[in-house]
Amino acid sequence: MKILVALKRVVDHNVRIRVKEDGSGVETENVRHSMNPFCKHAVEAAVQIKEQNKAKEIIAISIGPIEAKDVLLNALAMGCDRAILLKTEKEQKIEPLAVAKLLKIIVQQEKPDLVFLGKQAIDDDANQTGQMLAGLLDWPQGTFSSKIELEENRVNVTREVDFGRAKISMPIPAVITADLRLNVPRKTALPMIIKAKKKPINIMEAKDFNVDLQNRLIVERISEPPKREGGKILNNVQELANIINELEAEK
Ligand code: AMP
Repeated sequence: MKILVALKRVVDHNVRIRVKEDGSGVETENVRHSMNPFCKHAVEAAVQIKEQNKAKEIIAISIGPIEAKDVLLNALAMGCDRAILLKTEKEQKIEPLAVAKLLKIIVQQEKPDLVFLGKQAIDDDANQTGQMLAGLLDWPQGTFSSKIELEENRVNVTREVDFGRAKISMPIPAVITADLRLNVPRKTALPMIIKAKKKPINIMEAKDFNVDLQNRLIVERISEPPKREGGKILNNVQELANIINELEAEK
């Protein structure tokens, strides 16, 4: 069994996002970046499968600027065997459809049995790439997975949905996207990172893949959310009840 895991480099989730003055996007210069959190769960799932001797090789892939090598290194430190970087220009934005088309080409070259992705990237919150990739490959998809179980030539995925949990069973090969409750991603200590530096990262230019990387969406304007008004500490429940009554009376 071979698993391909797709990872996106995003602005670190602890960073306070600043919108550019001209509203054209958010500041990314000199801002800490890291692996998209949902992608960490995807890597952890793949590594756990390998630790159970159910997978022979895990390949991590990212499409992004040269700095995305860092998130690939992190994935190698977590336990992936090798990595692929499809390099883009520094500020180049690649929409989910183009990412899915590039991933499809790598899937056809590498022939993995499973492709793991995060359920969504926290920068654009698109939640599209896994679904589009499955569509382009004509493979079954298990999205928002909170549990992955392997069987002979099949994979079962538990999905957390509005009405509870849905367990679906799919033939392999399949595309699976990871939700937060899938696992607890391992932390990478320095010795793991040093060891990972010996693992191969194959760097290729995204533009050489004959995929139309032109963006389809026009982002008209990005604006800051409205400032939150300050809270007020009340002395007792009666004060709270009075405020609620006043608000009700105003309706
Ligand atoms: P999105 O559809 O953009 O919300 O992203 C969902 C998932 O697709 C991410 O968690 C990644 O696993 C994968 N993905 C999206 N963009 C990229 C990228 N540039 N490189 C590698 N994987 C990506």
